[in-house]
Amino acid sequence: MGGIFGVVSKKDCALDLFFGTDYHSHLGTRRAGMAMYGDRGFDRAIHNIQNSPFRTKFERDISEFNGRVGIGCISDYEPQPLLIRSHLGSFAITTVSKINNIDELVKEIYNAGHTQFLEMSGSNINPTELVASLINQKDSISEGIEYALDKIDGSLTLLVMTEKGIYAGRDLYGRTPLMIGRKDDEAYCLAFESFSYINLGYKDEKELGPGEIVYVTADGYETLRPAQETMKICTFLWIYYGYPTSTYEGVNVEDMRYRCGKALAERDSVKPDIVAGVPDSGTAHAIGYANESGIPFARPFIKYTPTWPRSFMPTDQSQRNLIARMKLIPVDKLIRNKSLLLIDDSIVRGTQLRETTEFLYRSGAGEVHIRPACPPLLHGCKFLNFSRSNSEYDLITRRVIREREGEDVSDEVLKDYADPDSTNYKEMIEDIRKQLNFTSLAFNRLDDMVSSVGIPKEKLCTYCWDKQGDCRDCSSCKGCS
Ligand code: SF4
Repeated sequence: MGGIFGVVSKKDCALDLFFGTDYHSHLGTRRAGMAMYGDRGFDRAIHNIQNSPFRTKFERDISEFNGRVGIGCISDYEPQPLLIRSHLGSFAITTVSKINNIDELVKEIYNAGHTQFLEMSGSNINPTELVASLINQKDSISEGIEYALDKIDGSLTLLVMTEKGIYAGRDLYGRTPLMIGRKDDEAYCLAFESFSYINLGYKDEKELGPGEIVYVTADGYETLRPAQETMKICTFLWIYYGYPTSTYEGVNVEDMRYRCGKALAERDSVKPDIVAGVPDSGTAHAIGYANESGIPFARPFIKYTPTWPRSFMPTDQSQRNLIARMKLIPVDKLIRNKSLLLIDDSIVRGTQLRETTEFLYRSGAGEVHIRPACPPLLHGCKFLNFSRSNSEYDLITRRVIREREGEDVSDEVLKDYADPDSTNYKEMIEDIRKQLNFTSLAFNRLDDMVSSVGIPKEKLCTYCWDKQGDCRDCSSCKGCS
């Protein structure tokens, strides 16, 4: 994924930029960067944050940064922000994006006379540089952002900083959020995460709508392109990766997770001794379940956090699994001979949850009932840069369906597997349960998850569960009809 933050102020705002960007650290583990316009003109720093967190890496930079306008990012992929000089002048740019038609766009840009792109390691073009090139195809930054938002297949939310202010654009279908915060008459900020500016003294000013473009200075903001009607905000923001204190489209993440847990409890009949959540996002879903069922919430295992910062994330999967295991410490009294009900946000590969369950059995648990807070994932995400799955067969559901149906499975058959009342669905769940060695397994239903968000389904992307939300392929989705 990734997160972005920007600030424009009547006073020096380097510290606001530093802390505001740092509060997006849960959204990425690879790169981070900040750019400001100050005494020395444009200043920029980018660091690798794989083995130490944002604040440690940027401590030294922040004492050298100064200025009244700045942007920052946490990025799971490309190094950014980038500093660009073009016929539009000098600007800094940062994005949260996934660009599926990158080759096609690069070809178009070559045809328009642009001769080169820098290559990153691995021979890939930096997507943020491509977005800058798209912007440079037009006669103003505003027109360029509009062009880029409209051209990209995937998603794009971005900030473009000039020496005087920040242009901001939210993804055409609003898959990722963007908020404006205001600090009295002194400053405005722009943030992916709405909680990121609260402790800095900003209050919610406005949430950008899908495809909306604004220009923000220390004196105020103007809308350069109004929001479009169609929205497909990512439902996974609430289920998994959004921070609990954030609010998107008026719906707080923690609160939504309580409602998901409540919905799971309302349909359940097991009577475990305790309800627990897989930290971090599973915890709030579990609190909702416990409150509704009256079964006590407890923490049968606890993460050892002091020396395991979240950002320590090796790329090798077996090392990641080892670290996941080392972080969890069992509480014998809460596990031995007990029946546990465990809630996780979702099941992707199933590897981690199987290991956690085995760890609980080894620690003496009698029963381990698993309740994922969202329905079975049947389709990979093609709109966001999720590092969680690379191919559809990373998903345990698709592997089980392949075992049952063979390689070529039609959309019609997959639709049947997504229907919680179908026989195929029930048998798939039983196959998963056996493979992962759970005592019982029941997923949240799509209709319950959507009601837990509380905004109309046609405004949500639910593609990874039911293939609805791909507005560029309207005929295959028909999610709004
Ligand atoms: S496919 Fe899933 S993860 Fe991707 S944007 Fe849609 S809801 Fe979010």
